[in-house]
Amino acid sequence: MNKFVVAVDGPAGSGKSSVSKQVARQLGFGYLDTGAAYRALAWAVLNLPNFKGLDLANADLGREFDYSISLDPDHYSVSVAGHDVTAAIRESQVAEYVSQVAKLPNVRAFMKLLTQRLVASASQSGVVVEGRDITTVVLPEAQLRILMTASEAVRLNRRAAELSEVSAASLKRQVSERDASDSSVVDFMTPAPGVQLVDSTDLNFNQTVSAVLALVDQRKPKETNE
Ligand code: C5P
Repeated sequence: MNKFVVAVDGPAGSGKSSVSKQVARQLGFGYLDTGAAYRALAWAVLNLPNFKGLDLANADLGREFDYSISLDPDHYSVSVAGHDVTAAIRESQVAEYVSQVAKLPNVRAFMKLLTQRLVASASQSGVVVEGRDITTVVLPEAQLRILMTASEAVRLNRRAAELSEVSAASLKRQVSERDASDSSVVDFMTPAPGVQLVDSTDLNFNQTVSAVLALVDQRKPKETNE
């Protein structure tokens, strides 16, 4: 793959989505939110009749799951079987259920291939890809790999600010309990060898974007005037 890939993993509320999107904009890269596909699959199980009786652990998802996502950081949209689910996949019901779906090896194997295919098909010269296992499992050969963290208190506050009218109990289920469940499947709390740690606990949004751009700058091949 000759694209420049920036892989960003991290827990809920670490800022990885908004930062990755802005980094992609500034670099003229594509932006791929891999959590959206897990959320969209959870949405399909909860809402689509043909998913109701489906055995997800063994299903042929390439055939059953008609998914598309835009890689344009300025026009983010997600659809499943012709339904625009861009907003629906952010609802609490999906956020509280998605980890159940993400645990299944069959689902993870499908998502890995889906992500690799989406990155390969991107029209841009590079892609910022964010998720939980991108640096370690999905794109371990990425030119730059980052683990973005923040303290739990900061992450809870950030997520509360994004969600309107969320109860404290639901917030906990959507951040702390989801992270606990997700990290039993893949470790995204400690950086693997070669993965750069960006701790945004004491950084604001612009400072975090700058920290990532500085790492990109170190890794990008330098243009010469010869
Ligand atoms: O990033 P986001 O919070 O939207 O991800 C939703 C869920 O998708 C996570 O809680 C996790 O269960 C799953 N996920 C995953 N691996 C990824 C991205 C997301 O397991 N690379």
